[in-house]
Amino acid sequence: MSVSEKLNNKSLGLGSKKSAIREIFEYSKLRKEEIGAENVFDFSLGNPSVSPPKEVAEKIIELVSADNQAQLQGYTSAQGDISARNAIGTHLTSLSKGETQITGDNIYFTCGAAASLCISLKAILWENQKDEVIIVAPYFTEYTVFIESMGGRPVVVQSMKDTFKIDINAIANAITKNTKAVMINYPNNPSGVTITSRELAELSEMLILKSAEFGQIIYLISDEPYREINFTNEKSPLVFDYYKNSILCYSYSKSLSLAGARIGYIAISPKAKVSKDLYLAICGSGRSLGYVCAPSLFQRVVADLSGLTVDINIYKENAALIYKTLTSYGFELITPQGAFYILIKAEANTAQEFCNIAKQFEILLVPTDDFGVHGYVRLAYCKTRQEIINSFSAFKRLSEFLF
Ligand code: PLP
Repeated sequence: MSVSEKLNNKSLGLGSKKSAIREIFEYSKLRKEEIGAENVFDFSLGNPSVSPPKEVAEKIIELVSADNQAQLQGYTSAQGDISARNAIGTHLTSLSKGETQITGDNIYFTCGAAASLCISLKAILWENQKDEVIIVAPYFTEYTVFIESMGGRPVVVQSMKDTFKIDINAIANAITKNTKAVMINYPNNPSGVTITSRELAELSEMLILKSAEFGQIIYLISDEPYREINFTNEKSPLVFDYYKNSILCYSYSKSLSLAGARIGYIAISPKAKVSKDLYLAICGSGRSLGYVCAPSLFQRVVADLSGLTVDINIYKENAALIYKTLTSYGFELITPQGAFYILIKAEANTAQEFCNIAKQFEILLVPTDDFGVHGYVRLAYCKTRQEIINSFSAFKRLSEFLF
């Protein structure tokens, strides 16, 4: 028996195969060494480019300069410090249209959105590989990994063709007696599309009818790391105002540019049918996954700075500049509404071919195939304005080659 035969094959497989995005990112590092960083236009990774607001550094300095370091840097309760959780509850209540009171008892601090999702999934899936979780393409590439690892089966539903808006009928048609949850992500990675309160209301109505038809709870898991990065006239609606059995998975990775700090939370709808048990199951999942507690320093930082975000206008202006410039070169793009991604149509080529050609012009993009959609490439514009402007001559040459 070889050594690798003694390992968990699923984990070995996941670890051996890098995601398409990570592979491009690794290539980018090598290529920058070869020809100089300024000559490589890497739009592959969603790593925030805008600095955290100065209040974050000030708060960290204030906290780490105080006397109570053993307490500050020590364990908190598994679900997070109660005063920090209360602060998040108060903030979420202020976002509600006035009907939902969220308290610290509805909040569970996590190490970011990825942990929020895995913990939530583990809390509701029975690990028999029969429970289905509907995901809406294009979806964040890790969703299938998270769902399968937590014991469920991902069921992919496409969004509306060409606009990538949510297709509620398509979701309704995919619901079966095995459906445990529908997972949505708006503003969306990779399409940059948002959800309106009207669309969320329609989705909720449909889920209420389907839950009654099948006699079971269908959870709505809303993955919202880009909640505030919304360029439309309507703020991102709060899922609790629309659907009782909902779970909000949040992260400060993008809104405060704290991706490396690993801090986020799960908020449970106080109106969920089994709200208290759901919360306990979340606590149990976090425990069994070995999280212990989220970083205590950052619980305090985000709680004290509730509602603060990076300067969203920087991303909005990047989006507008890229859209205008690339469209003028003949590229077809999905109008960006939020997050910091934009989709470019791959025209006559497959998405992979398009990326390969773009690579010859030192432009690094990600094909959408891993996001569950063919024929588009994702451009992550979380870059400095200068980097974006510098890339335009390469895009111009790419367009002359393609069209
Ligand atoms: N969900 C979506 C849609 C994302 O784009 C990301 C990260 O890019 C995550 C979850 C994971 O975020 P975090 O870094 O907070 O774990």
